[in-house]
Amino acid sequence: MDFTLSEEQKMLVETLRTMGERENFRELAKKIDETCEFPFELMDRYAEMGLLGMTLSPEHGGGGQPAVNAVLAVEELAKFSPMIAAPVFESNVGPVRVIDLFGTDEQKKRILPGVCSGKLSVSVCMTEPEVGSDLTSLSTKAVEDGDSYVLNGRKAFITGGGHASHYMVYTRFGDAKGYKAIGGLLVEKGMPGFTFGKQERYMGLHGMPSCDLFFDDVRVPKQNLVVPPGDFGKLMWTFDIERCGNAAMCLGVAGGALNEAKAYAMERNAFGRPICEFQAVQFLVVDMATKLDAARLLVYRAASGAGQGLPSIYEASMAKAYANEMVVDVTDKAMQVFGGYGYSSEFPVERMYRDAKAWGVAGGTLQMLKIGVAGMIFGRRFDQRK
Ligand SMILES: Cc1cc2nc3c(=O)[nH]c(=O)nc-3n(C[C@H](O)[C@H](O)[C@H](O)COP(=O)(O)OP(=O)(O)OC[C@H]3O[C@@H](n4cnc5c(N)ncnc54)[C@H](O)[C@@H]3O)c2cc1C
Repeated sequence: MDFTLSEEQKMLVETLRTMGERENFRELAKKIDETCEFPFELMDRYAEMGLLGMTLSPEHGGGGQPAVNAVLAVEELAKFSPMIAAPVFESNVGPVRVIDLFGTDEQKKRILPGVCSGKLSVSVCMTEPEVGSDLTSLSTKAVEDGDSYVLNGRKAFITGGGHASHYMVYTRFGDAKGYKAIGGLLVEKGMPGFTFGKQERYMGLHGMPSCDLFFDDVRVPKQNLVVPPGDFGKLMWTFDIERCGNAAMCLGVAGGALNEAKAYAMERNAFGRPICEFQAVQFLVVDMATKLDAARLLVYRAASGAGQGLPSIYEASMAKAYANEMVVDVTDKAMQVFGGYGYSSEFPVERMYRDAKAWGVAGGTLQMLKIGVAGMIFGRRFDQRK
């Protein structure tokens, strides 16, 4: 079993680390949190560096790299802030992968090069005001009409909402109930009848565009059908790569908090000596480092197993669930190491804790992931409706 990164992967991580230090991403992260403004200026830069679409098909402008490289890049940038990592996340493990894997040639040509150059982005639209975990009860509906579908419904908590150019909408086709009638339709910003709600104000992840979407008789050409009804499994399977990205965000935020706590423990004095000399503080930091490494092994296993395709559902779900709990614990401990200053917004660990809380809900709740893993461990499906 080989746990070492390749020379190319080490160089990727090192390049991002030094760029973040040179360009003071630590300060940028603070600014984003305070102003709630997404750092769109990074898009061109990331595109030039080949970070956007690094996992997408080379014939459409992508880098053709394995998923684990994107996970490493997201982790490294998220040490500063998930917002700084977000474009790399969206363009490599987001719903654009559905188009890359299952879209038509025409869709790939239309969308993928734009995603790689930072001009286009795709949001995933599953959740509705009345339906989150119980996804297969969604009520957004597409009805066939000539060469189009007419789409009606509402989506909630959509990351990228209002800013993304394209929206991968999970919708029911016709009146049939359950997952068999659900597919994925690509809706473009600006289509008549497609409007946005007010931007969300979350506890953390300040600066991340997010809002409700409203579809009022939106006429979507049939050529925008990416995943037809009957192939719902393809949508969910692809979503597992997004779950690896979510877990990579957790690794980054926890890694950032660990770095902060370590540095602070060496410089802060109490009783005439640095607090890192107290065993209680050492144990906090050791627990943080151990849990972070354990999560890292799970996440890298899932992402490595995906290769240039998709991960095992078992490995991705387990990695995400563990990383989601780990990041809350690690950032909580980092705040403790900082004492009173940990609770102050002058220091980054308070923001990291707020950012940490998002991941166990976004991308499917911890509870729902564990229910899925339980089904795989016991070898039977636990129907939540019975
Ligand atoms: C920061 C953030 C970003 C997001 N981005 C997106 C996005 O881009 N696109 C998108 O579509 N959605 C997005 N979401 C929405 C997210 O996917 C949903 O919030 C999530 O799936 C949970 O759905 P819900 O909020 O309706 O909670 P509910 O489904 O109402 O669940 C409420 C609680 O009940 C628990 N629960 C429900 N059913 C069961 C059960 N059977 N057994 C045990 N516990 C259960 C849940 O675990 C949860 O704790 C985002 C959310 C957040 C916070």
